[in-house]
Amino acid sequence: TYTLGPKISNWDEERKAWLDRNPEFPNYINGKARILLVTGSPPNPCDNPIGDHYLLKAIKNKIDYCRIHGIEIVYNLAHLDKELAGYWAKLPLIRRLMLSHPEVEWIWWMDSDALFTDMVFEIPLSKYNDYNFVVHGYPDLMFEQKSWIALNTGSFLFRNCQWSLDLLDDWAPMGPKGPIRDEAGKILTANLKGRPAFEADDQSALIYLLISKKEWMNKVFLENSYYLHGYWAGLVDRYEEMMEKYHPGLGDERWPFVTHFVGCKPCGSYGDYPVERCLKSMERAFNFADNQVLKLYGFRHRGLLSPKIKRIRNETATPLEFVDQFDIRRSVVGGT
Ligand code: UDP
Ligand code: MN
Repeated sequence: TYTLGPKISNWDEERKAWLDRNPEFPNYINGKARILLVTGSPPNPCDNPIGDHYLLKAIKNKIDYCRIHGIEIVYNLAHLDKELAGYWAKLPLIRRLMLSHPEVEWIWWMDSDALFTDMVFEIPLSKYNDYNFVVHGYPDLMFEQKSWIALNTGSFLFRNCQWSLDLLDDWAPMGPKGPIRDEAGKILTANLKGRPAFEADDQSALIYLLISKKEWMNKVFLENSYYLHGYWAGLVDRYEEMMEKYHPGLGDERWPFVTHFVGCKPCGSYGDYPVERCLKSMERAFNFADNQVLKLYGFRHRGLLSPKIKRIRNETATPLEFVDQFDIRRSVVGGT
């Protein structure tokens, strides 16, 4: 069967020895785990050119969040393994990055079509001390309903350790393009509630794996106390209400951490929603987030659909008097 690469079985010891030898590349800095956010898009231009503009906005949004929170970022445009093209491309990429960056403690995959919409919220990493994989999901949808949307693989975190390499190895075999992926799709559709008939996708394959080999769940944290992934359709029309009632930093339905445009595919040709609705909604999510960044500099968008901005405070000759007050990093509450 297909493998992601040569079997590695002693990664925890090897990595620990490497960290001991390389104290200038620590996996924790001032008590904070080093995080690498990974995202990417297909190697070629979008079918629809406007899709490239939204990919640009989406990476700008991630750069902003990561700069503010001291997270490193990788943008991938290559197919490291041509058998695992498309949505499966994240698997060989994550493995490669774990092995090439032993100093990174957590690898955080985020889809290109997911935007940070809470620029203040930080992942509560200390909650996951005893876990190696964190994903947005619901246990009852997984184990009672066996639903194909029990979790979402648009945003998840992997600890850099042997357990994660093993999970990737067990996750990948349904991925190879062609007959293997097509046949696996039939198994997934037959076993997962609500799944349409199509080739195997990484999300369904992960759900199926976790249901069939429940021992993996010992180290999997299904997070639903905040939106590590938030489904866009229920969120984008409520941004004005959120701005009126709440404030960034909450991360949940009051101010969603991530808004993910599942089913939109502005870069491809076929989505599940009208492209105009998707683009308008993505524009709103981008500007909602960008307002939180622009506030630092004294501006905001004229409206959630407007690329134009306006000044929200006067210029001053003594900027340092106010600089702390507007720094997003100073409003971070929880998080480690
Ligand atoms: N992706 C990639 N290279 C590709 C195709 C997809 O890096 O050739 C990434 C991209 O970030 C995308 C993610 O895989 O957002 C998930 O794929 P897709 O958007 O097709 O699935 P959806 O999020 O709509 O379920
Ligand atoms: Mn997506």
